[in-house]
Formats: sequence, C-alpha cells, structure tokens
Amino acid sequence: MRVGTVREIKNHEYRVGLTPESVRELAAHGHDVWVETGAGLGIGAADRDYEAAGATIKPDAATIFAACEMVVKVKEPQAVERAMLREGQILFTYLHLAPDPEQTADLVKSGVTAIAYETVTGPGNQLPLLKPMSQVAGRMSIQAGATALEKAHGGRGVLLGGVPGVLPAKVAVIGGGVVGFNAAQMAAGLGADVTILDRDPEVLERLGTHFESRAKTRFSNRANLADCVAEADLVIGAVLIPGAAAPKLVTRDMLATMKPGAVLVDVAIDQGGCFETSRATTHADPTFVVDGIVHYCVANMPGGVARTSTYALNNVTLPHTLRIADLGWKAALAANPYLAAGLNVHAGAVTYEAVARELGYPY
Ligand code: NAD
Repeated sequence: MRVGTVREIKNHEYRVGLTPESVRELAAHGHDVWVETGAGLGIGAADRDYEAAGATIKPDAATIFAACEMVVKVKEPQAVERAMLREGQILFTYLHLAPDPEQTADLVKSGVTAIAYETVTGPGNQLPLLKPMSQVAGRMSIQAGATALEKAHGGRGVLLGGVPGVLPAKVAVIGGGVVGFNAAQMAAGLGADVTILDRDPEVLERLGTHFESRAKTRFSNRANLADCVAEADLVIGAVLIPGAAAPKLVTRDMLATMKPGAVLVDVAIDQGGCFETSRATTHADPTFVVDGIVHYCVANMPGGVARTSTYALNNVTLPHTLRIADLGWKAALAANPYLAAGLNVHAGAVTYEAVARELGYPY
C-alpha cells in the first residue's frame, strides 16, 4: 500500500504521524512510504533520515493526499487538509469528532474512511492510543510544577525534593489513573512528599501496593481534599469521569486556605479543568496567578515534548498502521475488534455511535 505522512499544520503542533523507524517497518513490509518534506523537523528527524529508512520525500501535502491510499497523522485534519481528502482513502489520526461538527461534516462529505486513534480500544476497555499521551502529561506535570514553584515564575521558592536537613515539598495528586500514577512516580522519584487521592478503592489499593511507603494514598472526599490542598506546595489535577466534564474539585474559596505561591497544575484542563479558577493556557504563556496561587493549565502538554510524544505514540499506533497497510482496512478491522472500534466515518456516513448521536447523524 502507498502510505503517506504530512507536516502537521495545526498551530504549535510539532509531532509527526510516522517516525523514520516506523517508516523502516512499513518499508520492510513492502509498502511504499511518502513523507512531506520537513514533516519530521519538529522531532529532529530530517528528510535524509526518512530517506535512509526507505521513504520518498515529496514537496507538499497536496501530492501526498492526492496519491496515498492511507495518510497517517497526529492531529485532526485542518480545513485545508480536509479539502484534499478523497473517497476510498484511509485517514488514521486523532479526530475527536464529537465536539467538532464542522470537521465531521467535511469528513462525511469527502467519502474518506477515517479511523480515530482515540476510540481504538484494548483489552479491559482501555484506550491504548490515548494512554501514552496521559503518561507524558503525568510525568511532565511534575516538571512543569517544579518550574512554577521557582520564585521567578511566581512560586513559593520550594525545591520538590528538599535537601539534606530541609523537608521536601508536599505534592497532592488528585486522581490516580494514568496521569496521576505517572505524576506520582516522578514526584516520588524526586524525593517529594506525595499523597494520591482517588475515589475508586481498587485504584487506591493498586497504588498502595505499587508505591508502598514512597507515596501515601487517601480517599477522595471533600474533607480529605480540602486538607491535602491546604497543606500542598504542588497540586496535580488528574481526574477523569469518562464522557463528562471534569468536576470542579478545588473551588476558589479553597485557594485562600493554600500557602501563597503554591502551584496548581490542571492536567484535566482538556476536559474543562478540575479547579474552579482554571482556564486553558499555551506552552508560550503557560501560567497565571489567581489569589496568589500559580496555575499551569496547558491543554496540549504532550506537544511540549514532541519528540518523546511522537515516539510514544508511534509505539502504539504502528502495529495498527502495519495491520491496515498489510491487509487493507476492511480485513484489518474484521480481524481486530479493538481496531474496528476506531472507525468513525466511512463512505459518507458516521460509523461511531456516540459521535452520530452527539451530532445528529443516522446510525
Ligand atoms: P484515567 O481514567 O486513567 O484516571 C482518572 C482517575 O480519576 C481515575 O482513577 C478515577 O477514579 C479518578 N477520579 C474520578 N473522579 C475523582 C474524584 N472526584 N476524586 C479523585 N479521583 C477521581 O484518566 P487519565 O488518562 O489519567 O487522564 C486524566 C485527565 O488528564 C483527563 O481529563 C485527560 O483528558 C487529561 N489529559 C490531559 C492532557 C493535557 O495535555 N492537558 C494530556 C493527557 C490527558
């Protein structure tokens, strides 16, 4: 199959759909891979790296969309890209269609077969193509929080791990799922005094077994939350209620109980945020201060570490990319129900129930 990848054009998106290493795997399976010139520059991969892996470099996205049977990307296609999609072509990327009626209408009109990373499932109802981005965001949240705690960034001037003779910082992680687990790992690794709050007893048990004495666990109720937030130097918001906006667990009133210069990192900002005072920020201007408390609320944290994120993403997308290229989309989806769950649009129809219901398409 002829498989292509293009330079991402969404604002400040530096990731890329295929790494040179993924290209090498596709080429080894006998596929013809076309890469737009400069597609990998954001992750430090030059055209010559792709060529060495077996790709053919093409001058623009139009050439790739016109001739490739499958296009592998990272972000949802932008309007100019959607105009280039063709009937029968396969698009494999993050789509997030439910809140995006314009994109959905364009995909339906184009006749493309669109398989969305975010709805591909795995054993045990997991979403394995979203997981690496949560791992990245969780780990990064501690880096971001540590930086925000420095005086120059408005923080209270506290080093997470302390030093011999000086106590470490207190870190409260609200939500012990993928983001929270990875945040706690980083914070505990730096020597911080970590407490993870969750309301799922099984999650608490798993965390307790994993971290033993390196992190405390606490049931998430109003009283315990208020207590942890008031004591914390750094609070990580990492809750998720599937299919719903994040609950506002830290209210503005609670900020007055916190230490001046303490830091809130709201990883759940992409679901509306779990702190009442959160508003989405960007990597260019990531923090703001409300009532003396520093807020970090970047909605696309993985984009800040595009190279790590691209490799983490390719690790989980490549097996499916190969499957589709080897078998064709129909046979690949028939053979793998997890991949089949990714089909969102095909031949002018919305094929994913939740999106169809949300946007009023027949299903
Ligand atoms: P997850 O489902 O693995 O974990 C969420 C956890 O929250 C679960 O363990 C759940 O029990 C817990 N929870 C729910 N309600 C709670 C409450 N009231 N108190 C305490 N815990 C509660 O989800 P995840 O993959 O860790 O993602 C967490 C959030 O991070 C999501 O909103 C996700 O969209 C977001 N995220 C943001 C970025 C970014 O760049 N900002 C990147 C990746 C993920």
